[in-house]
Amino acid sequence: MKLYSEAEASTGALDGKRIAVLGYGSQGRAHARNLADSGHDVVVGVRAGGPSWDKARADGLAVATPADAVRDADLVAFLVPDMAQAAVYSDVADGIKAGAALLFAHGFNVHFGQIEAPADRDVILVAPKGPGDLVRRQYEIGRGVPCLFAVHQDATGKGRDRALAYAHAIGGSRAGVLETTFAEETETDLFGEQAVLCGGATELVLKGFETLTEAGYQPEVAYFECMHELKLIVDLLYEGGLEKMHEFVSETAKYGDLTRGPRVIDEGTGERMREILKEIQDGRFAREWIEENEKGLPEYNRLMEQDLAHPIEKVGRALRACMSWLKTGRARAA
Ligand code: NAD
Ligand code: MG
Repeated sequence: MKLYSEAEASTGALDGKRIAVLGYGSQGRAHARNLADSGHDVVVGVRAGGPSWDKARADGLAVATPADAVRDADLVAFLVPDMAQAAVYSDVADGIKAGAALLFAHGFNVHFGQIEAPADRDVILVAPKGPGDLVRRQYEIGRGVPCLFAVHQDATGKGRDRALAYAHAIGGSRAGVLETTFAEETETDLFGEQAVLCGGATELVLKGFETLTEAGYQPEVAYFECMHELKLIVDLLYEGGLEKMHEFVSETAKYGDLTRGPRVIDEGTGERMREILKEIQDGRFAREWIEENEKGLPEYNRLMEQDLAHPIEKVGRALRACMSWLKTGRARAA
């Protein structure tokens, strides 16, 4: 395993080159601003008249429609939502010059064959391992969010150096840049968000909350126990792994963890995680998600409504309203 440092990632491959950033959401806004502050020539490509247009302008960046933005670009970063990328790509593909690089922050569309670039374009990946909001905030204070990079197609022989230079310019090399493949990034990212981060962690919280409230305990107490305190534990894990968490929790908590934890998450969970990974690897998840989008997201909307109607949301909103320091700002991950 090799972690690329700032010195190794500053390849100069994007010096004096024009970079088009398509999409001005979580990642797009952060990348565009960091690239510009790192001295690159950046143009943001968004729909004319949309809210992102004014936002990018107000941030002091050059703005154009996606078709105009890609025209003279040496690198085009596709930072619109994954499910919109194939359509945006087909709108702008003809305008992208030969020898330019197509850059993605997640490998989904390339890996699952939704976007196939002509042989004379580089196809590269720079995936920050954190939400866009953090990519910007860390950069501003001289830090960075670690990034993965990969080269799917190296038409120019400069693909790798371009990916490293991009990761460097958005601040990733301050934390470390790690090489991967489109397959590895896509499959592990989907698995992580489904089984552990967004899917696994929230279901664990909800099951804990339900268990306590069904047994007659106050929902407020259940909320603090199962949702609020999770942050303390996650911060300790982030800072110092299992060892640091064990240092800070009580002896009783440690004994409970070691003897009861494996009863909650057991071999059956492992079995189901392997099934979920298989569905990702063989393309079943990708097909299902693409079809769901084509149908107008009926199941997604139904499940989302159900999720947000969970009693933990009501009690959580009331309790968080008392904690004035909790910002409600947007900081999406995954
Ligand atoms: P987003 O939903 O925050 O923003 C996308 C932006 O694209 C919108 O703000 C808008 O400007 C534009 N847009 C939306 N729909 C469009 C359409 N139909 N046509 C044209 N433009 C449109 O997206 P995001 O979360 O920043 O994701 C961008 C890429 O970054 C994805 O590939 C995603 O997987 C990847 N990624 C995201 C995160 C994250 O923290 N959100 C982390 C790592 C990688
Ligand atoms: Mg992710």
